[in-house]
Amino acid sequence: MRDVAIIGSGPAGLTAAVYAGRANLRPVLFEGNQPGGQLITTTTVENFPGFPEGIEGSDLMARMKEQAIRFGTEAVGGMVQKVDLSRRPFQIHSEGRVEECRTLILATGASSKKLGLASESRLTGRGVSTCATCDGFFFRGQEVAIVGGGDSALEEALFLTRFAKTVHLIHRRDKFRASKIMQARAESNEKIRFILNAVVEDILDPDQGKVTGLLLRNPADAASAARHLAVEGVFVAIGHVPNTDLVRGQLELDPNGYVVVREGSRTSVDGVFAAGDVHDTRYKQAITAAASGCRAAMDAEKYLEFSA
Ligand code: NAP
Repeated sequence: MRDVAIIGSGPAGLTAAVYAGRANLRPVLFEGNQPGGQLITTTTVENFPGFPEGIEGSDLMARMKEQAIRFGTEAVGGMVQKVDLSRRPFQIHSEGRVEECRTLILATGASSKKLGLASESRLTGRGVSTCATCDGFFFRGQEVAIVGGGDSALEEALFLTRFAKTVHLIHRRDKFRASKIMQARAESNEKIRFILNAVVEDILDPDQGKVTGLLLRNPADAASAARHLAVEGVFVAIGHVPNTDLVRGQLELDPNGYVVVREGSRTSVDGVFAAGDVHDTRYKQAITAAASGCRAAMDAEKYLEFSA
C-alpha cells in the first residue's frame, strides 16, 4: 500500500511528487496518456520563473519528472481506468494493476475545448493556440483572431492587444456570455474588432504550415458565402473541460465539473486532495498548478501524520 498516489503528470502532479518524495512518502504517479500534460503541446514557455531565456514545454516537463524521480517517485505510464474512493485504502485501477493508497492527489488537469477542425489540430503550435498568456508575445504587431464570447475570450482579447496590431474577436452569437464589465472594457479598446454571428469554418493554411487566414460563416445563414479574414494567429478560447470523469459521483464537483476544494487542497472526501487545473477555474497557469501541487502534497503529509 502506498502513502500517496498522484494522478496526473503536469506541473501540479509532478510538483506534488517532488514534495511528497522529499517527505519520504515514496509516491506513485500515474502519468496518463500525455505524460507532461498540456505543456507538452506548447513551444517555448517564457513565464515560468527561473528560465530567463524561456524553456521548451517538453524540456520543462522532462526536468520536473527527473526531479520527481530523483526523490523516489515511481512513475507509471498509461491511463487510470477507475478509482474507488468508497473504500479505505483507496483503490486505483490502471492498465494491468490495482494500487492501494492512503491518500490520493488528483491532478488530472483540464482540456481546452476545441473547434473540432482538422486544420485546427494541424496548425496547433503553428499559429493556433489555446493560451494567450503563453503565446500572445509571439504575435507582436500582427493581426490575430480570438474565438469565443465568454470571460476568457474577452480577457485574452484584452491581453492580446498589448502585442497584436488588431485583435479580431469572433463570436457565434451577438450576445456575450462574458460579464458586462469585460464587455465594456473590450468595447472601449480600439484594437479590438468585433465580428459577431460568425463561426470559423476553416483555418488556412495547413499546407503552408502556418496560419494565413480564417474562413468565417454566419451560422444563421448557411447559404451565405464564407468570408475570408487575413490573420497570422488564432486563439481558441471557448472554455475548458476539467478531467474529472474518474471521480464523478465520488467527489463534490461544481456545476462545470471542477473539483470543489476547501481549506487548501482538501476535497469532499478525507484523504483526497486536488491540485492544478482540475480545480482551478481561474488561473490555469503552469506556475499556479505547480504551487497547488506543493500545497496538496503538504496537505497529504499532514493528513497522514494525523490519521496514523
Ligand atoms: P464560457 O463562459 O463557457 O464561454 C465559452 C464561450 O465560447 C461562449 O461564448 C460560447 O458561445 C463559446 N463557444 C463554446 N463552444 C463554441 C464553439 N464550438 N464554437 C464557437 N464558440 C463556442 O467559458 P470561459 O470564457 O472559459 O469561462 C469559464 C468560466 O470562467 C466562466 O464562469 C467565466 O466567468 C470564468 N472566468 C472568469 C474570468 C474573470 O473573472 N476574470 C476570466 C476567465 C474566465 P455561446 O455564448 O454562444 O455559448
